[in-house]
Amino acid sequence: MYSEEMYGYGAQSSVIREIFAYGMARKKEIGDENVFDFSIGNPSVEPPKEVTEAFIELLNTKAPLELHGYTPGPGDMEVREAIANDLNERYGTSFKGTNFYMTCGAAAALKITLTALFEEGDEALTLTPFFPEYTVFAKTTGYKFIPVKSDPETFQPDIKNLENAITEKTKCIILNSPNNPSGVIYTKESIKNVAQLLKKKEKEYGHPIFIISDEPYRELTYGTEVPFITKYYDDTIVCYSYSKSFSLPGERIGYICVPDEVTESSKIYAAVCGAGRALGYVCAPSMLQKVVEKCVKSRPALDTYKKNRDLLYNALSEYGYKCIYPDGAFYLCVKALEEDAEIFAEKAKKYELLVVPGDSFSAPGYVRVSYCVSTEMIERSLPAFKKLIENYK
Ligand code: PLP
Repeated sequence: MYSEEMYGYGAQSSVIREIFAYGMARKKEIGDENVFDFSIGNPSVEPPKEVTEAFIELLNTKAPLELHGYTPGPGDMEVREAIANDLNERYGTSFKGTNFYMTCGAAAALKITLTALFEEGDEALTLTPFFPEYTVFAKTTGYKFIPVKSDPETFQPDIKNLENAITEKTKCIILNSPNNPSGVIYTKESIKNVAQLLKKKEKEYGHPIFIISDEPYRELTYGTEVPFITKYYDDTIVCYSYSKSFSLPGERIGYICVPDEVTESSKIYAAVCGAGRALGYVCAPSMLQKVVEKCVKSRPALDTYKKNRDLLYNALSEYGYKCIYPDGAFYLCVKALEEDAEIFAEKAKKYELLVVPGDSFSAPGYVRVSYCVSTEMIERSLPAFKKLIENYK
């Protein structure tokens, strides 16, 4: 009567959503100011001013039928050219508009790319810890999905583990840096090592192994360079999103970039168009495309996130928590004070601290603390973090 597989994904709600819903209910009971909700990754910094102004200007100046009409399936060429030019200026690449396919955020970009590459029997890898939706996107496409353990101390790629995981059936590896949930940025050295290994394996197996670079947090870095992976490895397909950089995750806009350097690039680009069509994802929101075109050079204001990162990391470290230092994104991985992070997160609730157990991100033993919240809430939460650790001493 219906798909058991889809029923399973639909009926089982995400841990993050459950904690967030608990937080909403708890706030009603004891007041907003008494609940410290670090569960969700919704940007807490307003969109760049130019972005809001672009919406208003477009509504005031464009004819409605033009503004809201269908665009070509892969997106307006002017938008794609504007993105290409911006990346070329920043990274010295030589992209053209024809390398880009506009999408409803990174989620659609990932699903389309995975679908475009898939052949029966393929395996897809990713590095732990990782965004839990990768499992859904890869498995429902047909892949055998294989998470590969990263270095447990730094959460940088562990090249030995990666080498052991690659087989003749490996089609792609999803990389996410800056990373959700750890905030870690893969170093140039890490990227070079991954690239070198993949090149060796491509030769050994006689077929390409693609990096799918999932980059919703590319602009969210607090001083550390985010290596642009296409510069290090030819078979890289980029999945980008404006959800976090423009603080508009509900508006759904992003893109796929298939560089010319990718093996059989024009065929893969056509397969991306085909996958977009097959999944019903053609024509990303037209007004948002025009906003991107106008604001292609806008970057997020990072002061608040950086301030939050420093405040939280320094305070928790001082209290005795072990944290993975986050160079980017807006998440902090904190080692749970007992083996089972789910039990630890439950105990944290007693202090009104809402954090997400790392298990669903393949980071068992850690909790994720999202610091895309107000600085003032972090300040108010610190005594609770202190009491929680004292309770374990
Ligand atoms: N990839 C990662 C690592 C994410 O954290 C998210 C959202 O939080 C996504 C992809 C999906 O982003 P989008 O809102 O652009 O679909």
